[in-house]
Amino acid sequence: MFDTLQDRLAATFKSLRGKGRLTDADIDATAREIRIALLEADVNLSVVKEFVNAVKVRARNAELSQALNPSQQIVKIVNEELVEILGGETRTVRFAKQPPTVIMLAGLQGAGKTTLAGKLATWLKREGHSPLLVAADLQRPNAVNQLQVVGQRAGVHVYAPEPGNGAGDPVQVARDSIEEARRKLYDVVVVDTAGRLGIDAEMMQQAADIRAAVQPDEVLFVVDAMIGQDAVNTANAFQEGVGFDGVVLTKLDGDARGGAALSIRKVTGKPIMFASSGEKLEDFDVFHPDRMASRILG
Ligand code: GDP
Repeated sequence: MFDTLQDRLAATFKSLRGKGRLTDADIDATAREIRIALLEADVNLSVVKEFVNAVKVRARNAELSQALNPSQQIVKIVNEELVEILGGETRTVRFAKQPPTVIMLAGLQGAGKTTLAGKLATWLKREGHSPLLVAADLQRPNAVNQLQVVGQRAGVHVYAPEPGNGAGDPVQVARDSIEEARRKLYDVVVVDTAGRLGIDAEMMQQAADIRAAVQPDEVLFVVDAMIGQDAVNTANAFQEGVGFDGVVLTKLDGDARGGAALSIRKVTGKPIMFASSGEKLEDFDVFHPDRMASRILG
């Protein structure tokens, strides 16, 4: 992950080593290298511009430091700016004062929502919660079954429509699941919704209807990091059509460039809450901007 970006930044910093002080020309050259590295990583252009500008201004204004040489100083600035664009603080689920907390998953088909539902449930259990998974994706014939398999693996109950009993109405299923959670004392409800392969008005409307019906405490936009810049476009469409509170990046294990991770927070203004990096239940964690920045800087 972030292979090229990591290498390019390392080379840039290396070229500054041994310099006693940085001239404006050094700073400009460094800024140019960072710009190229970020663009090659498929980071959104406006994010790149803002980032490079911030680094430049801070490098120019940096006090001569006793403790850090110029190269270290630049690394420090880049690190801090990376943490900034990745969201600064770690932010996870805000639980409702009055249970159940309702979390709705939205995103394109194949983004990894169903897989994520199992991972999130596992994480919730570890945090001491009692989650209920809800199969409100009734678009794909196999989706309910898939969630049931995931639920079984995670050891979590799955609420699914009974055949013939409101089976075709995901809004009703989602609504009923909240009642079920209240009755059976589940304190978190995770609603899996339908996606399509591309952005689609009907799907968007359905997700918006589910949102309106169950008033989730958190809507999580689930997006495949491997689609790079397209993640940002898709996010904008979901922001407009459904609205969301946080982002979950999936398939980080297959994302060599990192453009989605580095762009999505700035472009949407919403925090990345979780990251998924594999098909197994344990390939999942809370997203920590500082740890991700450290990983990028190697
Ligand atoms: P949904 O259509 O949004 O519910 O997506 P699925 O959960 O069915 O996932 C689509 C495919 O991506 C499946 O083959 C998953 O095994 C795979 N997948 C999901 N998350 C990850 C991940 O973090 N890494 C990798 N490599 N594959 C993933």
